[in-house]
Amino acid sequence: GAVAAIGLTACGGSGAGGGGNDTAGQDPSDLSIGVAMPTETSERWIADGDNVKSQLEDAGYSVELQFAGDDIPTQSRQVDQMINDGVDVLIIAAIDGTALAPQLEAAAEQGIEVISYDRLIRDSENVDFYVTFDNFEVGVAQANALLVGLGLQNEDGSAGSATGPFNVELFAGSLDDNNAFFFFDGAMSVLQPLIDDGTLVVPSGQTDITQAATLRWQQETAQSRMETLLTSNYGGGTVLNGVLSPYDGISRGIITALQNAGYGPNLDSTPQPLPVVTGQDAEIASVALIDQGVQSSTIFKDTRLLAEQAVAAATAILNDEEPEANDTETYDNGVKVVPSYLLPVETVFADDIQSVLVDSGYYTESEVQSGQ
Ligand code: BGC
Repeated sequence: GAVAAIGLTACGGSGAGGGGNDTAGQDPSDLSIGVAMPTETSERWIADGDNVKSQLEDAGYSVELQFAGDDIPTQSRQVDQMINDGVDVLIIAAIDGTALAPQLEAAAEQGIEVISYDRLIRDSENVDFYVTFDNFEVGVAQANALLVGLGLQNEDGSAGSATGPFNVELFAGSLDDNNAFFFFDGAMSVLQPLIDDGTLVVPSGQTDITQAATLRWQQETAQSRMETLLTSNYGGGTVLNGVLSPYDGISRGIITALQNAGYGPNLDSTPQPLPVVTGQDAEIASVALIDQGVQSSTIFKDTRLLAEQAVAAATAILNDEEPEANDTETYDNGVKVVPSYLLPVETVFADDIQSVLVDSGYYTESEVQSGQ
């Protein structure tokens, strides 16, 4: 009981004895959890950080939350610091899925268990659990949303009224993020057969993930690749009909490049309808663009639910129990298969904004109107 907990707390609080070993039965208020998030430039990670922190605090734990500005050395330092501070569990959304090996080793030596958050930490034995969304399904959903936008398919999966062929270009995420491969592979499982049979044409020929990748998921990088693709492949009347984009920030970079090139309502040139552009995360700026008919779709991943799973996993670990997994096969990190809890995802077109995002309290109607 309480007396024993006080004794252990003094030890954990000193930093020397921190870790997951002796935590079962302790009062949550004597335990602390380190939460390392990648960046504040994308709003989903701010929401993730806020949700995880507030839910852990509601459960009574103290929380050390850090954002790393998408800088790998910064994230390594932050995790080092958390270990020195004697946290009892680490929850980490890594910038580079392989860069934290020394930190994870130090954590393991002190008995601090590690929960990989959203992104799988690769090439380390010292990853104890993984909470995430069904990342392959995200890619499948993005590809299906592209087909629906083009009219090749209906939302229920049946054949649409259009037959193609359509010109499309493909974008992928950051190659140091394991998720980027799952998204792209999921999307290509749907698109490749249509590329093979000529329904979809990729005029640039860039269908490999290494060609489609976007370092650190950056909007500007995507914009400039789109500009290059347009100049190199879409002269002489070739029209672009659709773009597979893995993330809303990338989608907005793509849309800016397209608008600058005269796509969409534009007084100075012949209006050419904007291509169908997909996305992910339901960032408010993109939700507003979807509402206005500029971006076609996004994939909603409810970070409130992911935070809940992270808190449940941390609580189980601290009570010396196995966190509940619903997938123990998919996520091989190169060293071991990490037991995982996967959450479902939802596709959002303009028609779905109200029911999926507003009615659930994720955004208010005025946020959707203003885009912020
Ligand atoms: C996340 C996505 C996000 C992307 C860029 C991925 O690891 O799963 O939700 O769009 O990172 O931040």
